Amino acid sequence: EQGLGRRGDSRSAEAFDRAKKVIPGGVNSPVRAFKSVGLTPIYVERGEGSRIYDIDGNSYIDYVGSWGPLIMGHAHPEVIEALRKTAEKGTSFGAPTELETLMAELVVERVPSVDIVRMVNSGTEATMSALRLARGITGRSRILKFEGSYHGHADSLLIKAGSGVATLGLPDSPGVPEGVASHTITVPYNDIESVKLAFDKYGEEIACIIVEPVAGNMGVVPPLPGFLQGLRDITTQYGSLLIFDEVMTGFRVAYACAQGLYGITPDLTCFGKVIGGGLPVGAYGGRRELMEQIAPSGPIYQAGTLSGNPLAMAAGYTTLKLLTPEVYQQLERQAAKLQAGMADNAKKHGVAATINRVGSMVCPFFTEQHVINFDIARTSNLKQFQAYFASMLALGINIAPSQFEGMFVSAVHSDSDIETTIQAHDAALESLQQA
Ligand code: PMP
Repeated sequence: EQGLGRRGDSRSAEAFDRAKKVIPGGVNSPVRAFKSVGLTPIYVERGEGSRIYDIDGNSYIDYVGSWGPLIMGHAHPEVIEALRKTAEKGTSFGAPTELETLMAELVVERVPSVDIVRMVNSGTEATMSALRLARGITGRSRILKFEGSYHGHADSLLIKAGSGVATLGLPDSPGVPEGVASHTITVPYNDIESVKLAFDKYGEEIACIIVEPVAGNMGVVPPLPGFLQGLRDITTQYGSLLIFDEVMTGFRVAYACAQGLYGITPDLTCFGKVIGGGLPVGAYGGRRELMEQIAPSGPIYQAGTLSGNPLAMAAGYTTLKLLTPEVYQQLERQAAKLQAGMADNAKKHGVAATINRVGSMVCPFFTEQHVINFDIARTSNLKQFQAYFASMLALGINIAPSQFEGMFVSAVHSDSDIETTIQAHDAALESLQQA
C-alpha cells in the first residue's frame, strides 16, 4: 500500500487558517472541522475509487464517502461521464426535463411505498417538507422523534439531535423558538413503551413519527425486532403518519432501502445522499393521496429554484442504475469482513468494543454494552475514540471524526482495502494499549 497515510499536514493547516478568516469555523458543515478530535482537517485534492488524496500529498482509504452518498466510490467513470454529457447541454433551466421523470420512475419502481416523489436539494429540505406535509394533512402540530437521531437542521428537528450536534456536545440549538421546540416530543430509540406513553398522553395531537429505520447519527444502531412494526401500529391506531427518514439508509442498506430490508411500509419516506450520487439532492415521496396534497396539485406549499437540477438527476440516476442486487451482496460481504476483523482485533487487545453493522454501515463503539440507543452509545470511551481516530488517519484510513457516525463501505472497497483497514485497526488498538 505504497503512499498510504498522513506524513505531513502543513498545507492543510495553512488552508484551514486561511478559511477560518472567511468561513465560520473554517468549514461549511461543522463536523468537517475535526474539532472534537483536536486535529486540523485534511483538505482534499481529489478522490478516485476507494481513495482520497489530500493537498499535502497523503492518500487514504476513505470510509466517509462524502458522509454516505459515494456508495460507488469517488469519481465513478460512468457518473462523471453522465455529468459531462449533461453539463454540455446546460446546467439548470427551472423548467421540467425528462431526466426528472426518469429519476422519479426509478425510485417508484424500487420503493414500493412510494407512488410519487418530489425532488429537493438536501436531506434537510426533504425532512422539513415531509413534516409540513404531515402537519398539513393531519391538522396536528406535534411530532415525535428519537433522542440521538439527526434529521437535518430544520427548527422542529434540531431537538436532542445526533450527528454533529452530539459530537460537539451542543445543547439544543439557540435560535430555535420555544414555541417550535415545544411541539417536538423526543423519546429513546428502540423504546416502544416510551412511544406508547407519549401517544397515551398526546396521541390525538401527534402529526407524525419521524424515524431513521436504522439509526446512523448516534453511531450505527439497528432497530430491535418489532420496534419499527410497533411504530407502524401505533401511528395507524392514532391516525398519525409514519415518516421513514431514509436519507442515510435509502439505497444504502438494501436495494429497496431499509423499509424493504425490514418489511415495513411507511406513509412517507425521505431520501438524500445516495440518491444524489454525490450532488446536492434530497427527495420525499409516499402514497399518492398524501403526496398530491403538495402544490401545485394540492394546497401545501413547497418549491425549489434548483430542485430536480439536471446535473444532480444525472449523477443520482446513474448511481441508482449501477446499484444492482449483486452490488448489495458485494457490500454485505466486504462490510461483514470488516466487522469481523475489527471484532477479532478488539478481543485480541482486550479493548471494550461493540461493532454494530447493517449492510455497508459499520460502527465500532468503544463500549462493551449492547448499543441500542443514544444513552448507551454515549457510554463509549470518547478519549479512546479520539486516539484511535488519530492513529487511523496517520495510517491512511479516513473515517468520520466522531464516535457518533458510522463507516460507509463502498462497492469499490477491494479485498486488499479491507485487509489493510483491519491491519490498521489492529495497530491503532495496539497503540491505545501503550498510551
Ligand atoms: N436525515 C438523516 C438521517 C441524515 O443522516 C442527514 C444528514 N446526515 C439528514 C437527514 C440531513 O441531510 P442533509 O445534510 O443533506 O441536509
